[in-house]
Amino acid sequence: MPGAGVALRLDDVGAASKLHEVYGLTRVRVGTLAVPFPGNFLFLKYLPPIKRWGPYRELSAPEWEGVLAALEAAHARMTVAVTAGWVESDGGVTPFPRKFPAAAGVIREGVRRGLLEIANHGYTHCVLRDRLFRPRLFAGNREFHREFHDWLPAETHREHVARAQAILQEFFAVRVLTFVPPGNVFSRATLAAAVETGIRYVSCLDPGRVGRVDGLTWVTGGEVVAIHDRDLVVGGVDALRRLLGGRPAPPVTVSEVGQRLEGRAR
Ligand SMILES: [Zn+2]
Repeated sequence: MPGAGVALRLDDVGAASKLHEVYGLTRVRVGTLAVPFPGNFLFLKYLPPIKRWGPYRELSAPEWEGVLAALEAAHARMTVAVTAGWVESDGGVTPFPRKFPAAAGVIREGVRRGLLEIANHGYTHCVLRDRLFRPRLFAGNREFHREFHDWLPAETHREHVARAQAILQEFFAVRVLTFVPPGNVFSRATLAAAVETGIRYVSCLDPGRVGRVDGLTWVTGGEVVAIHDRDLVVGGVDALRRLLGGRPAPPVTVSEVGQRLEGRAR
């Protein structure tokens, strides 16, 4: 694939799981960094050994300005997987643009400048039912920080995918074509909902495990470098600069890679 870049994807923007998801060292997800990837980017090595995944804060507007500048300087683009609703402690859901207006404004500017693609990273990133998302005293709650379990009714999958699409498309004024299932968890009901709402690309680990879905293209594995907003909260925008500097070619967005794969499949 001459000149074909790899997609760069930043997950968990707007996801309140960064606040509510609490689990211990044994559960630290090495898995998220297990995608093919240069080893010097393992931010985990900068962390104190006992550090847990959360809680951590949302990226600020100035940090997003730095992200845009870094991408521009590297002639790179990036897909931002946004969770469209921020889950409050009482279970209420605030749309991302209302919860973080300054950061959302800079991200929208990045979209306008062609530096960022917005991807749907769910509506809540977690299970709202029975407040299962709340931290528990004697156990981790990680399971409930995945939104699209197959034990949830298909209607919940549809509602969450559609609500996220509506919020993101209205605020960012673009069609959202890429879906990134939170925590790599989804079912055929999730993908059916994705197709219904205009999604064309699904990006996560092994999205094809439930079989082919007409209208969807998987963008995964060696095609994607996936990082989390946490990597930039911990490592600063410098971490992104280092990553971009270490790439053989400037990264592109997931939908750009998806488009290329679609063309090849035809
Ligand atoms: Zn996530």
